[in-house]
Amino acid sequence: MLDGVVKIGGAKGTNHDNTLLDLAGRVKRGERWVLCHGVSGAMDALCSAAGLEPRYVVSPSGYRSRFVTDREMVLFEKASFSETAKICSFLGAMGVPTVPINPMNGTLVLGKVKDVIRALEGNRTILLRGNRSGKITRIDNDGIHAIIERGFLPVFPPLARDESVPRYINIDGDRLAGSIAASCNARTLVLLTNTPGLLENVDDPDSLIKDISLDEWHVAENAAKGNMKRKLLACKEALEGGLQEAVIADSRIELPITNAISGGGTHLWRAKSTEIAV
Ligand code: ADP
Repeated sequence: MLDGVVKIGGAKGTNHDNTLLDLAGRVKRGERWVLCHGVSGAMDALCSAAGLEPRYVVSPSGYRSRFVTDREMVLFEKASFSETAKICSFLGAMGVPTVPINPMNGTLVLGKVKDVIRALEGNRTILLRGNRSGKITRIDNDGIHAIIERGFLPVFPPLARDESVPRYINIDGDRLAGSIAASCNARTLVLLTNTPGLLENVDDPDSLIKDISLDEWHVAENAAKGNMKRKLLACKEALEGGLQEAVIADSRIELPITNAISGGGTHLWRAKSTEIAV
C-alpha cells in the first residue's frame, strides 16, 4: 500500500522546499509516496517571456482552467519538465532517488483530448477549438508500484500521453494526484496549496473547514471558488474511486505533509466513520 500521494501546487506563495524536505525525511524512513506537481507559476513566467498572454477559460459549470492550444503546449511541456527536473534535483541532493516521469516514455498516464470546449464569455457560452487539455483515461498502477518497489520516488508533471496520437496533453495536476491515489490504493491524498485549506470564506484564513464527508459535499462546494473548485473535484473523484481520505492543506509552513496527515488543513472523507472500518 502507498502511504500517500502528495501534490504541490504552482500558485504564488506555494513553498516547495518545506514540502520536499518533509517528503525526503519520510521516504528515507521507508514510507512510500508519489509526488505530483503543478506548473502554473512556471508556465505564466514562460508565457510572459514569450510575449504570450496566459489564457484562462471558465466552463459553463464554473470550472476555471488554462486554455492550451498547440502554441501554448510547447511552453507547457517546457515548464513541466523544468519543474520536474528542479524537484528531482532537490530530492536527489537530499539523498532521495527519484524517477522523473515522462508520460511519453510508456503508458503510465494516458489521456484523451477534448478538442472543442464550451466556455463562458460574459453571459454567452462560446465554443473554443484547438484545445490540448484533456482528461485522464488510464493510470498504470502496476507500473507506478514497480518504480516504488525498486526504491524510487516517482515525480509526475501535469501531463498525459494522448491515448490515440503520440503527443502530450495537458491534464490537471490535482486530478492526476487524485487518480493515482485512488488507483494505487493510497492511504491518503495530500493537496498542498497557498491557503490553510478549504476556507468557508476565501478572504478569512481563520474560517477553515476542518472536516467534510461526501454526504455533506454541498457545504464544500458552496465555499469553493475559482481554482479551489477543481481541487475539490479531484478529491471527490478520488473518494468516489475508493480513497478513504484526502487533505487540502497549507504548503507555506514547516513540515506541510506532517501537518496535513496529523490533522491540519481540511480533511475530506469518503464516509464520516472510516475509523470504524479498521
Ligand atoms: P495551486 O496552484 O496551489 O494548486 P490553486 O490556485 O489551483 O492553487 O488553488 C488555490 C486557490 O484557490 C487559493 O489561492 C484561493 O485563492 C482559491 N480559493 C477559492 N476558494 C477558496 C476557498 N473556499 N478556500 C481556500 N482557497 C480558495
